[in-house]
Amino acid sequence: MNTREFAMFSVNQERDRQDRLWGEQNHHPLEWLSILGEEFGSACKAANNTYWKWVKDGITQNYEEYEKEVTQVAAVAVAMLESLHRGKWRYQDSRKGRAIIDHLEKSS
Ligand SMILES: [Mg+2]
Repeated sequence: MNTREFAMFSVNQERDRQDRLWGEQNHHPLEWLSILGEEFGSACKAANNTYWKWVKDGITQNYEEYEKEVTQVAAVAVAMLESLHRGKWRYQDSRKGRAIIDHLEKSS
């Protein structure tokens, strides 16, 4: 298995794990971007922690957590595309969005 095949294999395994955890997810694109942003932030944190521990204390760089988080970033991006291609979020979101608008109008 070359490095690309291994990366795609890891992302596919993570997608399977996410489906087992949450089932089919059909979020609005803006909700997906928020989820992706959280995962991206976790990847940044993992890289920062590893790097700065090495700079400050000479602790050997270990990118295990970074690899896990970057894999999750890629898997969420794949899930975003799957959701977009299913197209179910449009209907689900319009009802949710309408309910929020109704709530805001009644409470103002
Ligand atoms: Mg994560």
